[in-house]
Order: sequence, then structure tokens, then C-alpha cells
Amino acid sequence: MAKAEKAIQVQMTNTEPVCFDKSETVEALAKDLIRKYHPELANLEIVYLWKNKLMVKGGKEVIAQITKASALIKSLTHYDVIVIVSYPAFNQLTDKQQRACIDHELSHVLIEEDIAGNPKIQIVAHDVEEFGSVIERHGLYMSDLVMLGRVVQSVLIREKNGAKKVIKLRPMEDPVDRAIEEHELADESILD
Ligand SMILES: [Zn+2]
Repeated sequence: MAKAEKAIQVQMTNTEPVCFDKSETVEALAKDLIRKYHPELANLEIVYLWKNKLMVKGGKEVIAQITKASALIKSLTHYDVIVIVSYPAFNQLTDKQQRACIDHELSHVLIEEDIAGNPKIQIVAHDVEEFGSVIERHGLYMSDLVMLGRVVQSVLIREKNGAKKVIKLRPMEDPVDRAIEEHELADESILD
């Protein structure tokens, strides 16, 4: 653990003021994820920060959050994107959960081109937002839920088969009719 990260650990009490510090741990994790799953983000200036407090949004604890730097912040810091990770919450997670959590944050970033051909960063919403109780009552009543249902089903099959296969969804015009394809993975790809 880097010195700065030890410092934030010491300050992690309720009475301490909110404090942010750069996280080399999260940065290293994110760089690996960018290389493997988000190569389009490789040239972005992303800063990864620990926060010494738990974070709550909409009454629920959030482990991490991502924001696009405003023009002001960008001009002051040169960063394009800011990832804030709650130190106390993140350190409760397993390695696998930590990795998925940072992959989740990076998945919020979409890069498009503006009219002049310059990269334009967007923070996109989740594929699906729904209550479990509504799904229970009404089933997969919208195309995004059908998509999620298929993903969950494929993951369950994959886990049952000992993580030998991943089912990849083809980008689709009509989400309901999106086809499912199975791809064999090289062993090293499965061990993430
Ligand atoms: Zn999210």
C-alpha cells in the first residue's frame, strides 16, 4: 500500500473531515481493466481518488462514483474524468468484487466524436434500473429487462459449467430479438 493510502486509512473516522487522496491501488486495477475491456479509454486522463467516508446516494450506500470533469476542473487539473472510491466500503469487498466495481465505473464512460471530430466524453446511465419486486410481479416486461435476463441466464450457465464459456450478446437494433452467441475463451481470459 502506498504512503498516501496509509494516510487516508489513519484519517478514516467519523469525526474527521472529508478527505480525498490519490489511489495507486485503484489506478493499477483500472489500468488493467482498461487494457482488457475498455481500450477506448486508454488516452483519457482519469484520476482515481480515495474518499475517507462512506458515500450514500438515494438512501443507498455507493462504493464508487464517476464524474466527467467540468471545463473548470479540467483546466485546473488536466483531468477528464474523476473516479471517487469510498475507502472503508471498497476495502470490505473481495478482490473479485473490487475488480467488478471498478469495471462498472469505467463502463459509465462513453467517448463519441463531436462535429469537429474531437472526442466528446459522456457519462452514461446503467443498462437497466429496476426494482426486484416489480420484476417478480410483472416479469421481464421491457426489452432492457429481457436483455438483462439473458445475461443473467448466460452467467448462471457459465458458472454451472465451471467458467469455461462466456455468452456474448451481439449489439442489436431490437434488444428483444438480440441473439445470444457462445464463445469459447482461452483459459487465461477466464481467470480474471
Ligand atoms: Zn453505476
